[in-house]
Amino acid sequence: MVSRSLLVRTAPSSDVLVVDGRIAAVGPVLTAPAGTPVLDAPGATVAPGFIDLQINGAHGIDLAAEPERLGELAAVLPRYGVTAFCPTIVSSPPGIVERALAAWRDVRAGDGDIPGAVPLGLHLEGPMLNPLRRGAHAARYLRAPSPEVIAGWTAADGVALVTLAPELPGALAVVGTLVERGVVVAAGHTNATASEIEAAVSAGVTMVTHLYNAMRPFAHRDPGPVGATLAGAVPVAGIIADGVHVDPLAVAAAWRALGPGWVALVTGAVSELGQVEGVDAVRLADGTLAGCVLGMDAAVRNLRSFTGCSLAEAVTAATATPAAVLRDPSRGELVAGRRGDLVVLTPAGHVVATVIDGEVAWTAA
Ligand code: ZN
Repeated sequence: MVSRSLLVRTAPSSDVLVVDGRIAAVGPVLTAPAGTPVLDAPGATVAPGFIDLQINGAHGIDLAAEPERLGELAAVLPRYGVTAFCPTIVSSPPGIVERALAAWRDVRAGDGDIPGAVPLGLHLEGPMLNPLRRGAHAARYLRAPSPEVIAGWTAADGVALVTLAPELPGALAVVGTLVERGVVVAAGHTNATASEIEAAVSAGVTMVTHLYNAMRPFAHRDPGPVGATLAGAVPVAGIIADGVHVDPLAVAAAWRALGPGWVALVTGAVSELGQVEGVDAVRLADGTLAGCVLGMDAAVRNLRSFTGCSLAEAVTAATATPAAVLRDPSRGELVAGRRGDLVVLTPAGHVVATVIDGEVAWTAA
């Protein structure tokens, strides 16, 4: 039986050979068996495929309204270099989470036939959020933390990540239960003090959702979630690098405090991504920011321009760091044995091609 293989050739940078969906070799000027398809991108850089931990929609698809369109969302993401993602559901009317979980199971049942990025488990952003920091989440859908709210939320059944406000009564018990079920828990839409964040981390919280946005702001005698995170109390900070949700200088400050292993770029993209030109973000009628029109490739380019870091460092924030958040050892680095999920980038960080499971999923040409 002939093995399925692909050689990505980028001389003078490193080549990557993928065999049967896994990275087989990384190095300068690889040779592959005769007949191996070659993706030629001279002068480009190969990176691991991007992983987006927080994406609500794109190209007219809004998961919270039509969770059944999950597969369609997966199909449009490779053009942004994304090869895996956590479909994100905001605080929603009853039944939406169940429909999203059913859609996730349907798409995953066709694993291997997925025409796009791989939906990892859902990111349930809400409904256990602090009303004081709800941002664009509808107040009527918020719930107090309780075992009932998280009934059926397990990693095995498709919940990868939950964002909650850990200072709410009952929240720490919920954190403990979710962690036991294999779910990663992030603090977000929170009015916690720094010490409440430290208690949340002790209970199992490992991330802060969109650092700076929808949380108690930093003050020098009341450092809150921002101060606790920048001081290193939380393993990873998700951050929206669109230049609108967070000032570029605040992104640079977080980067300088934390560095590439502790910052995960997230897009927070909504259905308007890919639909509208000349719009920097989506807002509610009262001006509240309600979503991003940011592709992950643009987030990587922005991070470089905001911080002056290298392309490789910016890529880490979209690959190895989110993979670490999800405790996924199969993704996030260009080493033999990892999944053959790749993004080929120009030196400026534009996507030339995206490879998923060793197959070319998208090319710019
Ligand atoms: Zn949010």
